[in-house]
Amino acid sequence: MSDYIIRGTAGKGRVRFFAATTRELAETARQIHHTGRVATAALGRLLTGGAMMGAMCKNEQDLLTLQIRCDGPIGGLVVTADASANVKGYAVHPGIELPPKENGKLDVGAALGNGILYVVKDIGLKEPYIGQTELVTGEIAEDLTSYFAISEQVPTAVALGVLVDKNDTVKQAGGFIVQMLPGEGMSQEEALEYENMIDMLELRLAAFASVTSLMEEGMQPEQMMEALFQDYDMVIHDRLETKYACNCSKERVENAVASIGKKDIQEMIDDNKPVEVNCQFCNKHYIFEVEDLRQLITYDEEA
Ligand SMILES: [Zn+2]
Repeated sequence: MSDYIIRGTAGKGRVRFFAATTRELAETARQIHHTGRVATAALGRLLTGGAMMGAMCKNEQDLLTLQIRCDGPIGGLVVTADASANVKGYAVHPGIELPPKENGKLDVGAALGNGILYVVKDIGLKEPYIGQTELVTGEIAEDLTSYFAISEQVPTAVALGVLVDKNDTVKQAGGFIVQMLPGEGMSQEEALEYENMIDMLELRLAAFASVTSLMEEGMQPEQMMEALFQDYDMVIHDRLETKYACNCSKERVENAVASIGKKDIQEMIDDNKPVEVNCQFCNKHYIFEVEDLRQLITYDEEA
């Protein structure tokens, strides 16, 4: 079965959740970028978080970008997702290798080091919304949790996991985002009920095994959320497919080349050799012949 995200609510609509299984898209990213084990985990986690945050967008045209600038050996990560949970991304240094942590887990935190997480939401306004928070652990789930708490001021639990198999392929990947919605207009009794529910959910989350170990036991996103919400009337609203997808085209790449400026393009023309441009997200090659480059400058003059 292909990757998907479920969206739903619980606790009389006062909690909303997104839960995803993403093995295929994490594995696709690994194959495209030839990531080493730790970058497979880092990129897979950010793609999973990005896919779910894409699925949070309200309008079909909305675009979400997660960018991590950091001083660790991975050098940074970028993930872009749309509202249909099409997601793509890359790591600046995908091939790095690091010794595992004492508990045997891949050391994503050390790969990232210190840095900033930027959340860019393009919702069709003149300027995109940009939220930024410092990385907390560099393990990505905690960093997204911190972003939601600080920038969006929504208490949120984020769990993300990628299990890399002995042969370096992705064995399991998935995650969930659980958000407590502001409890406005509640009676005293309801407010108390709400507080009790939050306490209970926090206890259950603390006792939860990692996402990938739950998946190893055969649990799908549905069962994970059922285990979390049990008696809190969970409702799954819908289920949407999520996949690794790049929408690059010669035209888009052309715009990128055109934006480097006339002087640099003229230098490329003077070299009199075709220029190869690779899409950072899918590694597709685009060849620009000298004649193509000349045309780019011409267009520039007309504009
Ligand atoms: Zn591409």
